[in-house]
Amino acid sequence: MLKNDMLEQWDRESFFHPSTHLAEFARGNVAQRIITGGTNCHIEDRDGNRMLDAFAGLYCVNVGYGRQDIAEAIAAQAKELAYYHSYVGHGTEASITLAKMIMDRAPAHMSKVYFGMSGSDANETNIKLVWYYNNILGRPEKKKIISRWRGYHGSGLMTGSLTGLHLFHNKFDLPLNQVLHTEAPYYFRRPDLAMSEADFVAHCVSELEKMIEEEGADTIAAFIGEPVLGTGGIVPPPAGYWDAIQKVLEKHDILLIADEVVTGFGRLGTMFGSEHYGLKPDLITIAKGLTSAYAPLSGSIVSEKMWKVLERGTDENGAIGHGWTYSAHPIGAAAGVANLKLIDELNLVQNAGEVGAYLNKVMTEAVGSHANVGDVRGEGMLCAVEFVKDRDSRTFFDAGDKVGPQLAAALLEQNVIARAMPQGDILGFAPPFCLTHEEADEVAGKTAIAVKKVLG
Ligand code: PMP
Repeated sequence: MLKNDMLEQWDRESFFHPSTHLAEFARGNVAQRIITGGTNCHIEDRDGNRMLDAFAGLYCVNVGYGRQDIAEAIAAQAKELAYYHSYVGHGTEASITLAKMIMDRAPAHMSKVYFGMSGSDANETNIKLVWYYNNILGRPEKKKIISRWRGYHGSGLMTGSLTGLHLFHNKFDLPLNQVLHTEAPYYFRRPDLAMSEADFVAHCVSELEKMIEEEGADTIAAFIGEPVLGTGGIVPPPAGYWDAIQKVLEKHDILLIADEVVTGFGRLGTMFGSEHYGLKPDLITIAKGLTSAYAPLSGSIVSEKMWKVLERGTDENGAIGHGWTYSAHPIGAAAGVANLKLIDELNLVQNAGEVGAYLNKVMTEAVGSHANVGDVRGEGMLCAVEFVKDRDSRTFFDAGDKVGPQLAAALLEQNVIARAMPQGDILGFAPPFCLTHEEADEVAGKTAIAVKKVLG
């Protein structure tokens, strides 16, 4: 328990919180929540509340809170060797072991992993590697990156540009001009309600082809996408979407970056989302689930096809001019090794698939027929409920009504944490993989109570 009674005051005076309404926080209108501990799917705060965290932090504490194996691995590494860099061929037992463990789990056509600290910097690395690759191949014009509206890829300059959510662009002079956004594979928000799922896939494909034609395939380097849209609304793609998109990319020699920051290491019930949807990416972004957030660590997994070209580039130019001080940080790597072992030992990928399917089922039963529920959707241990003013005409509430945030607040009153997704009235659920059936029932049951309270 924290004893310092100055914390609340220091917090308001000193702490610039990310993704927070700055003025309202300073005025005291955004609640402070000081988290003190956690076990499995539950966290505790300084006021003594115990909450079921059905969003696993920011869909990252995949193995659950309080795992002593990981804590001990971190402590042991910190005592033995807290830091050494990985430039010019240096490594540590932890970083090399983790690289091997990642490559053992990654799709067979992948070759090497480059380590970073966050999902954002891993995607920055990916874009730089794509540009480096095309420069080595003598295609200096082939540089633009296609992302999707509602995609989330980080909040750096390039990655914030790739993110297809207006909040991440407005007043930041983003997106940068090398970035293009195409249609999101969001069937529930299809432009014409009469479209079948197959029609909608054809529409997404034709929008992409139109963009490639207008811009010129020789100017487009890569397409980036999450296997399942995450922060943009937790939206699994319509059937056949990825196959159809990959055909277009292959035809125009456009690289595919699978951003698996959320889906990597088990969230869909398979080790990678790429397996789940039959993707053959050239780069895979990993972060969150790599260490279950016990330490900051990310990675860019590079395909053999790209690796061969990158190697050639260094023959021509010398060492690759890209490195972070904390690449492959030994403490993060030790956390990663312990985390991946735990995922295997506890069969957590399988549990994510099984209990995730159960959560989706009981959530549909609990709220699916409510007049203001437009969509209940999910895949693996991801679930979302999207709210509408009117189901038949699919009209949405005004953003000012704050229906999503009110629903999340009504769940929090019952000590369940869900996330009001940033664009639209969408409650998102992404619990730790150790969620039990009873906890899934609790999440669904309390969601129904919250819906009744807010919407009647
Ligand atoms: N890609 C995806 C798919 C993400 O969900 C996130 C974070 N939510 C990121 C990238 C960025 O990761 P980070 O916040 O660690 O920079």
